[in-house]
Amino acid sequence: MTTERLIDAQSRPEDAEFDVTLRPTSLDEFIGQEKLKANFKIFIEAARMRKEPLDHLLVFGPPGLGKTTLAYIVAREMGTNIRATSGPVLERPGDLAGVLTNLERGDILFIDEIHRIAHLVEEYLYPAMEDFSIDIMIDKGPNARSIKINIPPFTLIGATTRSGLLTGALRSRFGIIERINYYENEDLAKIIRRSSRILKVEVDETGEAEIARRSRGTPRIANRLLRRVRDYAQVKADGKVTGQVADQALQMLDVDREGLDYMDKRILQYILNECDGGPVGINSLAVGVGEDAETVEEIYEPYLIQRGFLKRTSAGRVLTRRSYEHFNRKPPSRLAELF
Ligand code: ADP
Repeated sequence: MTTERLIDAQSRPEDAEFDVTLRPTSLDEFIGQEKLKANFKIFIEAARMRKEPLDHLLVFGPPGLGKTTLAYIVAREMGTNIRATSGPVLERPGDLAGVLTNLERGDILFIDEIHRIAHLVEEYLYPAMEDFSIDIMIDKGPNARSIKINIPPFTLIGATTRSGLLTGALRSRFGIIERINYYENEDLAKIIRRSSRILKVEVDETGEAEIARRSRGTPRIANRLLRRVRDYAQVKADGKVTGQVADQALQMLDVDREGLDYMDKRILQYILNECDGGPVGINSLAVGVGEDAETVEEIYEPYLIQRGFLKRTSAGRVLTRRSYEHFNRKPPSRLAELF
């Protein structure tokens, strides 16, 4: 699966409407990520006190964790407009110039998937970010000349799932760089509680915990599973979601007990069955599962490592005891020596 397909798989068209309905609109409503929120509060307050636009801000982390939500929240808290676009849409410098020249002072420009911006367009972004101006070439051949256009001071908020693909030049132009992490189960349970109130679904604490545990640390997935469980509960359980109902519904939908998705399992099973539990180098692993190495490193591995299924050692990736238990296999006696 390519990154694009993964992102599509994690952000399906049916999610889009709910993403908007369920999107928190203030930092106080935004659940979890306490450190990031505390930082944001300070940046926002300082910029407001200085009556200046916020520094350009880069947020990176896996899909569905709230990067777009945060951009909208920042705009709201700063009391400014937000214009949203994405890297792949900005194909030519003219596309970017069009967006930039329509901004008003203090506006936020949100560029999702900023790592996919065309190289040539990226070069136009540098002076825009630094000096709030762009040089546009007009005419061709011997008459070609460039004119400088000033643009109002604005804040660029860039979001990316693949910070490793960002050029150093672009990265260095962001004043603030923040990472957003997978959510703990308790925070996902709170997100499910909030969403169930909005969607008017009755979910008890065990139901919240069950859905949370299977959401791959990701609010968008938590909200999607909640909607699926709601349908099941309506038909089979008077609409009430308990832990048992959630478990039955999710089993029926083939959602792993730990929330592992197809590629997560493929990676673990490949190491288990083909590499004797590891260690295995990232490139052989990527070839083995038919995915590119960067996607494995940036999208799948972080979750597997965070949840204790996989470890990175100097010799390569190694399965942990937890992985063996998950697949009902006996851990080898040499396991302890590998770490
Ligand atoms: P990303 O831009 O990182 O792919 P989004 O900002 O689109 O993710 O978030 C996906 C959905 O998950 C949002 O619409 C929102 O409903 C939910 N969500 C994300 N983060 C949070 C949070 N911290 N608290 C509550 N809901 C959240």
